[in-house]
Amino acid sequence: MTADRTGHRASAAPAYDVVVAGGGPAGAAAALALGRAGRTVLLADAATGPPPVGEALPAAARVLLHDLDAQDVLDGRHHLPCYANLSAWGSDDLAAQDSILDPHGHGWHLDRGRFDRELRERARLLGTDVAERTTARPAGRSGDGTWTVELRGPRERRTVRCRWLVDATGRRASLATAAGARRVVHDRLVALCLTLPPSTTPAPDASTLVEAAPDGWWYTALLPAGHRLLARYTDADLPGPRTGGTGLRTDVARTRQTSARVSAHPWPAVAVRRAPAHTVRLDVVHGDGWVAAGDAAAAFDPLSSQGILTALYTGMRAGQAVHDHLGGDRTALTHYATELDTITAAHLRNRRTFYGLEYRWPRHAFWRRRHTAGPADRADGRPNTRPDPIPPTGVPA
Ligand SMILES: Cc1cc2nc3c(=O)[nH]c(=O)nc-3n(C[C@H](O)[C@H](O)[C@H](O)COP(=O)(O)OP(=O)(O)OC[C@H]3O[C@@H](n4cnc5c(N)ncnc54)[C@H](O)[C@@H]3O)c2cc1C
Repeated sequence: MTADRTGHRASAAPAYDVVVAGGGPAGAAAALALGRAGRTVLLADAATGPPPVGEALPAAARVLLHDLDAQDVLDGRHHLPCYANLSAWGSDDLAAQDSILDPHGHGWHLDRGRFDRELRERARLLGTDVAERTTARPAGRSGDGTWTVELRGPRERRTVRCRWLVDATGRRASLATAAGARRVVHDRLVALCLTLPPSTTPAPDASTLVEAAPDGWWYTALLPAGHRLLARYTDADLPGPRTGGTGLRTDVARTRQTSARVSAHPWPAVAVRRAPAHTVRLDVVHGDGWVAAGDAAAAFDPLSSQGILTALYTGMRAGQAVHDHLGGDRTALTHYATELDTITAAHLRNRRTFYGLEYRWPRHAFWRRRHTAGPADRADGRPNTRPDPIPPTGVPA
């Protein structure tokens, strides 16, 4: 072992079948699928950005977690069951979608940090080397196709070698875009998020609530420790969004349904967080020596509440496809890409249908844009050059 001028240690490079960059649900699911197939895997999670924001997990996740042999990460002590989704959409009145009608049962409001950590822990128990707080960056490729990957952690810098890379870096898709993939951006949706402290009065039920508004929509839900998530969704370029806590407080007071839930909680003195929430996908999801999964491959409008589920599924499928490819099946990655196209097309269809159900403000830019689909809204649309509305890492407001 040697030390470079910065004091970082450098060691001889061990070899893996696959390095997975990104330890969110997609990366963990890819590592679990590869580990179960007997592949040697290193999973690196940078955790350098803000904590993940999505917390509502649909009941269908049970099936996927079962397939990954990780169903016990959803134990009832740490995550809050969700029995209904309420919406004021197309009308001021509330409509309820009750989990009693869902064959998979109830959904959850996750303690998201714990959920992601426990999935990585399941991968570790299966033999994956997990490098926490470590960024993975491809540093070169040898003639036989072996990647050299640089890993940078808080105290150590080292290199490893691998045959294949999984890009599960989230919306940044940093490995795929470095390899030449292009981002197809569908809209400019942005979320202004605030976590309110627990209510001093008995907590209301743990239903989610979505409420349409002239310039976007509101979302609120209880979190496992009694905190409440409040999020306002709008387009990044619209004049409406006031990013400070006072602006959000004034605006939420004008809502009919959200305000009642929020008013039971103290208003915190912390800054409102601004997070990118636009629909974006890659024009190609695999290439020579790499494949993308989760938000890196396709990130969907949070209105669908399908992000974590899709990340788990595409992570698992990407892992299986890489395993098959390394085993000689030259069609596995193409099948994976076709499946992702189908998933994306279904999302775009559902998104158009759902926004089409709200017609109270047809002249407002937010709704007008969603009632008229652009060329990129076709699943086969050619990549456009529209830049990301705000940087994919998210920036605190
Ligand atoms: C405002 C908002 C609300 C949402 N709400 C919901 C919801 O209620 N329900 C839902 O299902 N979905 C929701 N989503 C979507 C959901 O959060 C994402 O779809 C999901 O987190 C995607 O998982 P992922 O593993 O692909 O990426 P991520 O969860 O983003 O994980 C990527 C990981 O990769 C790491 N990383 C990045 N670069 C590197 C690198 N070079 N090396 C190593 N590690 C790296 C990051 O630190 C991060 O830990 C929401 C999204 C937004 C923006």
